[in-house]
Amino acid sequence: MSQAQCIDGKAIATQIRNEIAASVQTRLQQGLRAPCLAVILVGEDPASAIYVRNKREACRTAGVQSISHTLPADCSEVELHRLIEKLNHDDSVNGILLQLPLPAHIDADALLELITPHKDVDGFHPYNLGRLAQRRPTLQPCTPYGIMQLLDRIGEIYKNRHAVIVGASNIVGRPMALELLLAGCTTTVCHRFTRDLGYFVRQADIVVSAVGKPGIIKGEWIKIGATVIDVGINRLADGSLTGDVEFNIARERAAWITPVPGGVGPMTVAMLLKNTLTAADNALKNANNRVNNT
Ligand code: NAP
Repeated sequence: MSQAQCIDGKAIATQIRNEIAASVQTRLQQGLRAPCLAVILVGEDPASAIYVRNKREACRTAGVQSISHTLPADCSEVELHRLIEKLNHDDSVNGILLQLPLPAHIDADALLELITPHKDVDGFHPYNLGRLAQRRPTLQPCTPYGIMQLLDRIGEIYKNRHAVIVGASNIVGRPMALELLLAGCTTTVCHRFTRDLGYFVRQADIVVSAVGKPGIIKGEWIKIGATVIDVGINRLADGSLTGDVEFNIARERAAWITPVPGGVGPMTVAMLLKNTLTAADNALKNANNRVNNT
């Protein structure tokens, strides 16, 4: 049995980011503004600060404008509420990103729901998740959306394939199930209360693991020829990063596998840019429709 081919998320994300940059240039040549993303960061969590910096840098290289709103960790929910309302009504802003996690005294779900759905470029708003559940996707949650781009680009066929998703969070596992169901997979979701995880993973033509526990997916469970997508990001004691899957064993059995790092991670940021561009295009279409209808 030959080794699995690695899915190079970094290269595919670069390709998508270049496509976005080209679309932004076309907008500018048409005399339109660059899409604009407003990023809200609360507090001084070092990991969040790095994520925000990476997202803003990705915007810059794609020609997407980004504006940053940094609030202290002790800011009130009312302050954040006002800021989001202001950005909701600002026509020059196409996307709003509220960096998670938020300090414990703030109700993150309530604030995410306050972001107007057509500027919800993370795709977390119940409206956007509901549209995905109803097979009419609008702005799609970035990580699952990025995974679908990876699967499309390796020629995944979906129909008649059994996808097993491990992890059922609102931002990865659940929307991932909706994406794969929409694509035509028979879809199983495993979670904390699943008994005998191996029983399910052994049946999977496509495995997506989004748990955050190194080695939870045993390499020997992987079906010969399966596609393995490892979303997990776990930092080991020596400072290195690893996924949820026993990579070295799994790659001897799978046909395709994502590495960690360099697999799913870069796609999440690329999809954030793609959603921001989509939101800007949609805003333009809506404005044109309003003009045509008056
Ligand atoms: P999360 O909110 O903690 O969700 C983890 C999920 O795994 C939950 O649904 C949890 O079940 C389930 N789980 C816990 N123990 C389990 C077990 N023993 N067997 C099966 N399922 C189990 O995490 P998340 O935000 O979805 O992220 C998951 C991982 O992906 C993390 O490592 C995170 O860093 C990574 N991540 C990567 C990217 C990327 O761009 N590459 C993006 C997002 C997240 P319950 O619901 O019952 O708690």
